[in-house]
This record gives sequence, structure tokens and C-alpha cells, in this order.
Amino acid sequence: MSRRLVSRILDLIFPPLCPICGESSGTDGCLCENCLSKYANEQKELCPVCRKTAGECTCGIAGVSRTFLGGRRIVSLAFYHPRANGGERITERLIRKFKKRYDRSLTDMFAREISGKLLTLMKSSEEAPSEWAVTFPPRSTENKRKYGFDQGEAAAGSISRYTGIPLIKTLKRAGGDEQKELGRKGREMNSWSLKLARRADVRGRKIILFDDIITTGATVRAASDLLVGAGAECVFPVCIARVRKETGIKEK
Ligand SMILES: [Zn+2]
Ligand SMILES: [Zn+2]
Repeated sequence: MSRRLVSRILDLIFPPLCPICGESSGTDGCLCENCLSKYANEQKELCPVCRKTAGECTCGIAGVSRTFLGGRRIVSLAFYHPRANGGERITERLIRKFKKRYDRSLTDMFAREISGKLLTLMKSSEEAPSEWAVTFPPRSTENKRKYGFDQGEAAAGSISRYTGIPLIKTLKRAGGDEQKELGRKGREMNSWSLKLARRADVRGRKIILFDDIITTGATVRAASDLLVGAGAECVFPVCIARVRKETGIKEK
């Protein structure tokens, strides 16, 4: 019996529960209908500065992506508010779960949404997915050991399955702490811990770069510089969410 069929049967016997409220979420997807509609509303939230959604706004990250795809510089599903309103928004709660423990249906839900938007942008700019590759900045060695998996690798792999764009490992960590414990200065220093993987061959390749949350853009910028420095033709960042402070991000 195929693994897919086994998982379908298991879903029928033990219907997946919504990771937010614990209600049965039906046999397909991840969130229950109620939480899904709240989550969808969060994605419609507009940047207070430019009045655009997270996928359209480039406030504070204009220098992060130099690649346009369908007129966009980035795919982001939502804005992320680190400590707003007790952190009760569905987006933040899902991302915390996504990073803490490998959850296939949650990872696939994010990957499916990102893939859909990505393929739409590629189609509108007449880009062939076969000319692209998807990659990710790996989790720090310390956190990979602590949590037992790399959430970026899991999501990038899932995006690769949904889009048919091959997954390639191009980057490694030279050590250092996870971004969240660091201030802006430390974060910039930490992004330097990214290195090109020894056998990475990105010459002439167009790269989709997955990072779960984009805060200052330092990691994406460092990764993108390494990839372009190694001969990549262009780098297009995709993420689940972009951090937006309550007051709005100012252009640098
Ligand atoms: Zn729910
Ligand atoms: Zn904006």
C-alpha cells in the first residue's frame, strides 16, 4: 500500500485536528473552517505605510530583492507581529508551531499557499518553473539539534513538490545563535555565518529562496549575495510572513 493511501486511511480513522482550536478539521488541509477564515482575514491586512498587503509592500525591504517576478519582489503570505495582542493571531501561533515540531500538514499548508502564489507570478511573467531551483538558509546547528529538524528544509522541500521546481542545498551555517535572541547588530553578524555549501553549483541558475520569517531581511540579503556571488542569475525570496512593527516599518 502506498504511503499516501495509508495516510488517507489514517485521516479517515483519526481526522486531523485543527492545530489552533483542536476541532476536527475535516479530511483535507489543516485548519478548521472557522480558524481558516480568521487566518485568511489576517492575510488581507494592509501595511500602515503604503496600504498594501504583505506580498506587495516593500517598505523596509526594498534592497532585499533585486528580482521581479510578475511585478513583485517577494512572496509573503502575511505580516507577522512578534508580540502584538498577546500573540493571539492565528498566523503567529501557526508559525510558532511550524518551527517547534515537524508537522507535515501545517508545513504543506504553508508550502501550498506559497507555491500557488509563486506559480501565478511565474505564469504572468512567462517564466518556466523548470529554469528555477528552490533553496533555503539552513537552521543553526544548535537549533537543528534542539528541535530535531530544519523547518526551512521541510518547507522548501514541500514547495519543490507542489511546484515541480527542484530543491537544491546551496547554503550552510558556520555556527552562531538563532536570530530571535539577537538584536539588529547581532542579527547582521549572524547572517554572516551563512556560507556557500561546498558543492553548491548555482552558476546561471534562477533561485527561489525560502525563509520562514523575514525580519530585517539581513539573512535573505546575505544568502542572496552569496548565491549571486557564486554565479546565480537571480534570487527571488518567498516567506510565510514578514515582521511588521505596530507603528509600521520606515524606509531606510
Ligand atoms: Zn480551528
Ligand atoms: Zn508597506
